[in-house]
Amino acid sequence: MKTIIVTGGSGFIGTNLVNFLIKKKYRVINIDKLTYSSHKSVVKFRKKGNYKFFKIDINNKKKLEKIIKKFKPKCIFNLAAETHVDRSIDGPKNFIQTNINGTFNLLECLRSLKKTNHNPKLVHISTDEVYGDIKSNYKSKENDKYEPSSPYSASKASADHLVKSYIRTYKINAVISNCCNNYGPYQFPEKLIPKMIANIINNQELPIYAKGKNSREWIHVNDHCEALLMLYLKGKNGENYNIGSGKNLSNIQLVNKILKIFKKNKIFIGNKVRIKFVKDRPGHDFRYSLNSNKIQKSIKWKCKINFDRGLKQTVFWYLANKSFFKKIAKNKYDIRLGLKL
Ligand code: NAD
Repeated sequence: MKTIIVTGGSGFIGTNLVNFLIKKKYRVINIDKLTYSSHKSVVKFRKKGNYKFFKIDINNKKKLEKIIKKFKPKCIFNLAAETHVDRSIDGPKNFIQTNINGTFNLLECLRSLKKTNHNPKLVHISTDEVYGDIKSNYKSKENDKYEPSSPYSASKASADHLVKSYIRTYKINAVISNCCNNYGPYQFPEKLIPKMIANIINNQELPIYAKGKNSREWIHVNDHCEALLMLYLKGKNGENYNIGSGKNLSNIQLVNKILKIFKKNKIFIGNKVRIKFVKDRPGHDFRYSLNSNKIQKSIKWKCKINFDRGLKQTVFWYLANKSFFKKIAKNKYDIRLGLKL
């Protein structure tokens, strides 16, 4: 059984990735600080033999190094991050601390391992947001220059540059993935899709920034997990890979699709549920879109989940797991952030 470390394995993508890797018969070590966006309860369902959890901040080099040395993973997926753009506008410090310094720490651990025979592959998870605002009809390519707009995307871009410098200078074994917006189970409801579903369930207005024209590319989290595994198995050292679905939607189109799923399936919608346009996010990028030819051609990965089908499944997952929203309600996910300048 091959061992894999996932940092941030208790967050949205991490929870899905850990479950996916366990199903694929990997032994998974999850390293997570357990911030507000993590899911502690999911851990209970995992079998002890092929899963271990350590509550550790990736900034703790001593502990991180000890675990890597002890478990000798073949691969480390680095997902630990602060991830909400609005929170990065209110307070960028945590984003610098985890996304940049935390990645630096992990890279230092890998650098010190170079002296041993154990050189795990790092799959560093980044985002399409590092490319910045994209003109209509254009799709970002891997060698496009980074033009991040928010403290979040700037922190991710900085971490990517550090990873690249360690690949070139210290010859560590690593690839970087730049993925578009994910959707699916276990996403903290400050993000658009679970937020809209939670608000419909709770009979609340549906706040949409500006006029809802901002466009994002959407991928089901399971497709992302498959792509990440393929990058571990086949990704060429030192390369970046875009991971996209080719499915762009404006926010208003997306919210209307969610409402349509409720209506079509005769799921109760309360009388307070209506779209409400609210003040735009400062520095809000208008559009992201990825050219994913590289991963499709060289790795033979392709997005499989049809968006409408995936979205319907996602809505039904949240409906069947309403306790998910209740458990995290204390984290006050319905407060508007990112306007205090
Ligand atoms: P998330 O906020 O749901 O989860 C992040 C996890 O990281 C949490 O469990 C948190 O406790 C943990 N964490 C935070 N700081 C930590 C630290 N210092 N040490 C250890 N653990 C820490 O985020 P997500 O949506 O699952 O995103 C995971 C990764 O994927 C991030 O790197 C993000 O930038 C990237 N990404 C996300 C998306 C998306 O649409 N969600 C798209 C592209 C890339």
